[in-house]
Amino acid sequence: MKIRVGSATDVGRTRTANEDSFLRDDKGRVFAVADGMGGHRAGDVASATALETFEHELDDGATLVDAIVAANAEVFAKAQANPEMRGMGTTVTAVQLDDEKALVGHVGDSRAYLLRDGELTQVTEDHSLVEELVREGRLTPEEAAVHPQRSIITRALGVDEAVEVDTYEIDLRPDDRIVVCSDGLTSMMRDEEIAGVLRAHTNPEEAAEKLVLAANRAGGEDNITVLVIDVEGDKRRGRRKALVASEAVVPVGDEATGEWERAEPPEVEEAPEEPESRPPRRRRLRRALLWVIPILLVLGVAAGALGWYARNGYFVGVDDNRVVLYRGVPDGFLVWDPTVEEQTDLRTTDLNNAQRDDLEDGHRFSSRNGADAFLARLERSTTTTTTSTTTTTAPALPPA
Ligand code: MN
Repeated sequence: MKIRVGSATDVGRTRTANEDSFLRDDKGRVFAVADGMGGHRAGDVASATALETFEHELDDGATLVDAIVAANAEVFAKAQANPEMRGMGTTVTAVQLDDEKALVGHVGDSRAYLLRDGELTQVTEDHSLVEELVREGRLTPEEAAVHPQRSIITRALGVDEAVEVDTYEIDLRPDDRIVVCSDGLTSMMRDEEIAGVLRAHTNPEEAAEKLVLAANRAGGEDNITVLVIDVEGDKRRGRRKALVASEAVVPVGDEATGEWERAEPPEVEEAPEEPESRPPRRRRLRRALLWVIPILLVLGVAAGALGWYARNGYFVGVDDNRVVLYRGVPDGFLVWDPTVEEQTDLRTTDLNNAQRDDLEDGHRFSSRNGADAFLARLERSTTTTTTSTTTTTAPALPPA
């Protein structure tokens, strides 16, 4: 596997010093970006010290993670020993390539990206305050991108004796492009803009330079460092694979009987798995929940309002020849059925035709008082009619 590499760094348009450092070892296939912080130029001491130690440890045979841990210890020791460097620290995002994989070690808010088939994916997850707020659902990615505290990092080399290093592994494919950069690029440009520049420049040196240029045009508010690492496609091997892939489905068995089976493709390599970047499923789920919860809240409020409507009114109707006071809406509303509030002693036989018709579909009232007044009137009107016929019909009604 061949690689081609491009790199560029710039102080930007507002800073007086470039505190970013980068390591580019094309032969050893190790690359890193470190973004230092700390007053009085302690930032560039932090980032340079970290990468020197990191490279030295790798040369001594340390693993990527152990080399970063050693770099942390070295920066921390230096900060402790020199009062003017107290509090200095640095990010580090490092990539180590072998023939099939890229191993990424990461602390802070510098980033590694993968451009594959024209699509840009962020590999590393920022250790920054705003990213944590995004993960907790308290900020949207759009809000985080312009948040005034977006440069506050929650993990760095040199601020503590111990450091936790995140690692990611990428199964490399021909024509993959890996980008490592400091936040001076990503705080000035959105991912789509970065992807556009990367797609427009196939030469990695050119791509790195154009990204720095674009970040400066967008304001250049911080130091900008970009590494572009291209995994070269093996043209001959690629064509052979394509041929084999097209023959992957071959007939086997007795052709005369028409029995066809899908053969196991003998030579086609299994499709490399997606790179192990940030877990997209978990993130997608959380984002989905962020949508679902407000929708459920709105539905809940709507249901409450409908329920209130359905349950708030009263009506006087008829049940089994008796006049009944109901709570609710006649025939019910959605899931809310009317309930019997009061059984009166009035019977439909006590009512005249007009009154019966009136109660047929339920006479509605917005308040209990209105319904009670109506019932009282109804009883008074029937009392006069029933008294005259008491002798011939039902027993006299008890007083209301
Ligand atoms: Mn920075």
